[in-house]
Amino acid sequence: MPRQFFVGGNFKMNPSSRDQTKSIINILNSADLDSTTEIVIAPPSLYLMDVKETVRSEIQVSAQNCHHKDSGAFTGEISPVQLVDANIPWVILGHSERRTHFGETSEFIAQKTKAALKATLKVILCVGETLEEREAGKTAAVVQKQLQAVVDVLQESDWSGIVIAYEPVWAIGTGRVATSFQAEEAQLDIRTYISQSVSPSVAENTRIIYGGSVTAANSKELSTQPDVDGFLVGGASLKPEFVNIINSRLT
Ligand code: PEP
Repeated sequence: MPRQFFVGGNFKMNPSSRDQTKSIINILNSADLDSTTEIVIAPPSLYLMDVKETVRSEIQVSAQNCHHKDSGAFTGEISPVQLVDANIPWVILGHSERRTHFGETSEFIAQKTKAALKATLKVILCVGETLEEREAGKTAAVVQKQLQAVVDVLQESDWSGIVIAYEPVWAIGTGRVATSFQAEEAQLDIRTYISQSVSPSVAENTRIIYGGSVTAANSKELSTQPDVDGFLVGGASLKPEFVNIINSRLT
């Protein structure tokens, strides 16, 4: 079975009002969207319920983070069980902004991934190298190490709940998109690694999406790569061009 194309929109800590969030949802609700693509949007946690209640049913909603415990004295956190209770089916984990600004290690992200899957959430698991690591020829090793922490704590069957987002740190929010060659090379390496460390069938079935300065202008070419199964989109997911990115394989 071919892997279903997947497009995620990571709103990050944007927009800064409920009205602006409504405008984005209105654009998505009135657009002609590729019905063969799985679409997931991740607004800030404060707006999750509003978005869940107003967005068209074909678009799923994701949190941008969660804790690894079900409940307890963890001020400011949201648990996987609470997200499931609120009918939020997805969570983004391991985003480079969480790794860099909030000190999240690969082991901690692995713990959260395991807890999220146990609660029946699906996970967009982000990995990617810095510019320094790429220039030192360490891309594959860095990404494998990030994935290894997750491989170590999951069962083979858990992988059906994961989409891997390859997001080179140097491409996130910089306007410097990876070339389709760079994206394909890194994502094929990820698939090969998953084949060897988990199983060939998990590697074959797992969606590996690209993230980092994806726009309507570059998404079409990226989408033609055999190991690019979709996108995780930050800045452009707040703009009308997100519709064109979702439809990148149509036009
Ligand atoms: C992201 O936040 O995951 C991302 C890829 O951001 P941008 O598209 O803005 O580079």
